[in-house]
Amino acid sequence: MKLYYNRTKIVATMGPASAPKDILLSMVKAGVNVCRLNFSHGKTEDHKKVIETIREINEQYKTNVAILADLQGPKIRIGLVKDGGIHLINGTRINITTNECIGDDNQIYITYETFPQDVKTNEIILLDDGKIQMRVLETNRKDTVICEVLHGGILTSRKGVNLPNTKVSIPSLTEEDLVNLHFALDNDVEWIGLSFVRDAGDITELKRVINSRNSAARVIAKIEKPEAIDNIDAIIAATDGVMVARGDLGVEMPLEQVPLLQKMIARKCRAASKPVIVATQMLESMITTPRPTRAEVNDVANSVLDGADAVMLSGETSVGEFPLIVIETMAKIVRDVEEFGYPFNTTQKQDNLDTNSPNYLSDAVCGSAVYLAEHTNAVGIVAMTTSGYTAFEISSYRPKASTYIFTSNRQLLNALSLVWGVRAFYYDQLESTDKTISDVNGMLKTEKLIQSGDVVINTASVPIVTQGKTNMLKVSVVE
Ligand code: PEP
Repeated sequence: MKLYYNRTKIVATMGPASAPKDILLSMVKAGVNVCRLNFSHGKTEDHKKVIETIREINEQYKTNVAILADLQGPKIRIGLVKDGGIHLINGTRINITTNECIGDDNQIYITYETFPQDVKTNEIILLDDGKIQMRVLETNRKDTVICEVLHGGILTSRKGVNLPNTKVSIPSLTEEDLVNLHFALDNDVEWIGLSFVRDAGDITELKRVINSRNSAARVIAKIEKPEAIDNIDAIIAATDGVMVARGDLGVEMPLEQVPLLQKMIARKCRAASKPVIVATQMLESMITTPRPTRAEVNDVANSVLDGADAVMLSGETSVGEFPLIVIETMAKIVRDVEEFGYPFNTTQKQDNLDTNSPNYLSDAVCGSAVYLAEHTNAVGIVAMTTSGYTAFEISSYRPKASTYIFTSNRQLLNALSLVWGVRAFYYDQLESTDKTISDVNGMLKTEKLIQSGDVVINTASVPIVTQGKTNMLKVSVVE
């Protein structure tokens, strides 16, 4: 199967619009690298079916599509309201209660048990993606919070609540998240997304559960709260990857700050060799129309220029009318920017290696591989890895040469589909360095990814049988 290989990867959220196998297959052919299961929606059986379809496609078409199971986290909602919607008027008062009730002009139910104890006077409450805004006047610290409506409107049932100023005491991994996490781990998904991360401890706790299951699943920290921005360095250090979750981030933080926050997070992730996904409303208008707006095209292009490892689609592919056209559109934008506006300074990172890192020497070899590739016009950097470390490290330089990773770790083959520029292949014949290099270069030649006369850079760990850290670099001309 001929696939388009974009360097900036594409994450597509699954849903009724993309679940049928023929549609999903056409989306994969058009450029989908990672399928996201959003545990805020859909039933477990639906997620299970999608997982089976993805695994079937990987098996039949020799693709490495990864699965990202996105846990809802401590998402707060209001309850049902009467008559399908209530009209909240500016300046009026309304009670928010933890006693379950059908909402009306006097009171609405909130799914957050300790809200009256956690909230303080004057804190802001945002409903329905920030469309409705309230201010806390008073709390009885038991079951009711009296609020003033600042920006009213029609409020319908089960809308989301954002509390940008409140120190929310709900744990990051809720009981429902734990059930979904175990389901995801039972199904060997490669990536687990955690919503509303507040500090590095949230990631440590998730990793503790994952490790207790002896799973190799990696963690994506969704950055969507001001507290996460305050703790961004520690979160990046603790996690395996990050998502700039612009939907909730743009509600909890001033919207105009989101573009620079995106750039800041992308820069820090690249420096730490952790993949970063830019998410939400990238091609939003394509949920209902087959052509994007100019602003959306700019947004995708700018995210590529910001150094995102992956750009993500949500409603566009889960419930939208044009799931395939959306992927084709996104792939075209990505390809065009990559081809004509290559934005990366690949040598910058080499000057800032951390000499105290336990991986300093292998980091230096990876950096040198990129440097050498640049200066020899190499077409490929071909690396061996078991843990994946070398792949994340080489990718973080954003080399112009293609990055080909060979591994005997099957789980990693799919996991690397999220990582910028990386294409992974299975290889497990670790007898001698010479044989391995000759084999993997031969495989790339058979795949027509390199040809006679091309310069390639190989990295490995010597002696190869011990599968240690990357410590070897070879430059050669393909025979
Ligand atoms: C977001 O808020 O941007 C996001 C990706 O999270 P979700 O889709 O789970 O709300």
